[in-house]
Amino acid sequence: MQETKSTCPYCGVGCGVVIESEGNAITGVRGDPDHPANFGRLCTKGATLHLSASPSVTRQMRLLQPLVRATRTQAPAPIAWDSALDLAAHRFAGTIAAHGPDAVGFYVSGQLLTEDYYVFNKLAKGLVGTNNIDTNSRLCMSSAAAGYKATLGADAPPACYGDLQHADCLFIIGSNTAWAHPVLFRRIEDARAARPDMKIIVVDPRRTDTAACADLFLQIRPGSDAVLMAGMLHLMQRQAWLDTDYIAAHTSGFAALQPQLAACTPERVARECGIALADLVQAARWFAGVADDATAPRGRTLSLYCQGLNQSSAGTANNAALVHLHLATGQIGKPGAGPLSLTGQANAMGGREVGGMSNLLSAHRDMANPQHRAEVAALWGLRDVPAKPGKTAVEMFEAAADGEIRALWIACTNPAQSLPHQSAVRRALERAEFVVLQEAFAHTATAAYADLLLPASTWGEKTGTVTNSERCISRVRSAVPAAGEARHDWQIALQFAQRLEQHLRPGMPTLFPYANHQASAEAATEAIWNEHRESTRGRDLDITGLSYARLDATGPQQWPLPEGATHGRKRLYGDGIFPTPDGRARFAVLAAQGLAESPSLRYPFLLTTGRLRDQWHGMSRTGTVARLSGHAGAPCVQMHAQDMARQGLQEGALACVTSARASIVLPVAACAEIAPGQAFIAMHWGSEWLGGQSAAGRALAGVNALTTQERCPISQQPALKHTAVKILKV
Ligand code: SF4
Repeated sequence: MQETKSTCPYCGVGCGVVIESEGNAITGVRGDPDHPANFGRLCTKGATLHLSASPSVTRQMRLLQPLVRATRTQAPAPIAWDSALDLAAHRFAGTIAAHGPDAVGFYVSGQLLTEDYYVFNKLAKGLVGTNNIDTNSRLCMSSAAAGYKATLGADAPPACYGDLQHADCLFIIGSNTAWAHPVLFRRIEDARAARPDMKIIVVDPRRTDTAACADLFLQIRPGSDAVLMAGMLHLMQRQAWLDTDYIAAHTSGFAALQPQLAACTPERVARECGIALADLVQAARWFAGVADDATAPRGRTLSLYCQGLNQSSAGTANNAALVHLHLATGQIGKPGAGPLSLTGQANAMGGREVGGMSNLLSAHRDMANPQHRAEVAALWGLRDVPAKPGKTAVEMFEAAADGEIRALWIACTNPAQSLPHQSAVRRALERAEFVVLQEAFAHTATAAYADLLLPASTWGEKTGTVTNSERCISRVRSAVPAAGEARHDWQIALQFAQRLEQHLRPGMPTLFPYANHQASAEAATEAIWNEHRESTRGRDLDITGLSYARLDATGPQQWPLPEGATHGRKRLYGDGIFPTPDGRARFAVLAAQGLAESPSLRYPFLLTTGRLRDQWHGMSRTGTVARLSGHAGAPCVQMHAQDMARQGLQEGALACVTSARASIVLPVAACAEIAPGQAFIAMHWGSEWLGGQSAAGRALAGVNALTTQERCPISQQPALKHTAVKILKV
């Protein structure tokens, strides 16, 4: 048996795994005891990874050879790799020649490795000359990134997992950590057991498993997060619980925030959030770390937060409000204190690091900054890179529906299930003249819309790096060869790019000087890594001191790790200096956005979506593992028992859930976690399980048939948590 150290491909905890293999077969997986994220632990999803790579799953579920459709109504037929890539290059080159570079778009994924992401970003911005590259990370972390930049000056989580051991108060908001980041939750339980006096505050519209561990649970109304945190800050100021020295020495903008704070009186905030005034006061006191004994040192507060803050029309304002609490109390840059956003996907951080989004450039550079554009152009050996911001995720599909984007390249993601307002997304896929889908799994909803399907390698087969929620970079290693004719994601992008160069830059030296054959994957990904690494020189995420050899020798490392440094940095801003023009963190006055959709007489319930403990995204991988269905085997709409009685719904009865966009039918289940007037549907199931129809009669996929494409105006992250619906007995 052979053992290979790698990383779990699911969530942003970024657990290390040891893959056991025999020959070309993965036979087992266990937690890596040396990995600093999990120290050997795995959750149910990670512990069953090997089952998702079994020969029968590979045979039945994987895309194993390139396929092409002559017309959209025909079944796809096999095509040789060279012919497939030639066709793709020909169609993209034709579209670019006829309609310009912004007529094509690339929609990629937080599941890609950093090296994959790097090549795609260079392909779009460097070769094609469009910033139309965005990612499903837009649905996940873009509000957190925008919140960090608005306040701290850079998209860099300042704290680390080890801070759990030092925190006196844990503030968990908009995160069901127990289910969405299970191994991190075990570390929370450990920290609590070691330090029983640690206070845990959980804020969530649902009384989740995470809430069960709380000393104080604030079951706020959906969308009242920013108001809650402004109310806490108002109270801290009124009670003289602020760290005024820290505010004076290290921040700017606190005075400008005053009118907003003044309006957030505790009484008003408690009323709007639907919580007791005493609980609001308690939360503010614990967060500020103020003890009864005024001479005692201030306690330390660590915040953990996720999609509950991010997937909102006020996503950036929510994130800024949380960072404000840390700045105002000096709870940042020291052990046990700071805001720590929990990344949804395995490599949403790595994608941002290489600039793989429509508004970013390599190494956290800003597209709007001419100096930054010049630096990236110089790195890539180009005269310039495009300045015009590209389309973000939802915008990209809106542009395709309008005929503005004519050719789409989709890699490692399933927008026909995961983007909001499914009928609009599917209209876009139908309207697009040429759709390429690069995927490991054959039967995703998006596959039905692809003209060309390119088989990609996946976990256990790939090599490269990922970055987890605490800025920690880990190696991903292949234990077995790619299945069938599958190729690595970076390699497919590269082989396409090298063909497209012949159309767009004939006779010029290649922009992609990496070996592109399967046998040299390790050398090629290292060459790509080294190029990315060089792009970070002098930036906030400088990793010029981090090589593959060093990662292999020392294990995972946190960024920054500049040349000459002996190790990565656990936490940021300990010196009180921030990456802003004046070195000060900012209190950002952002207009409060209301709910994307408020309940109305017509749609009286507010629907939220989220993860279950044992499933992942659209279930293309976890859906292949029977034992993961033991926790929740089928979708349902969860409601409060009072609402069910009012609607005449019995447990298990079929209900029709209707939003302004579509209807889906599924069984109803009473759930004490949910407040009256609200409902919950898990995000995982698609059309195979949830047959739905749009008003036009099209078959739709899952809960995102219902959700709104409204989004935060700053981060452009969709408000997937807030959809107004009616729920009627069928
Ligand atoms: Fe994988 Fe996340 Fe589970 Fe760790 S907690 S094993 S990274 S899914």
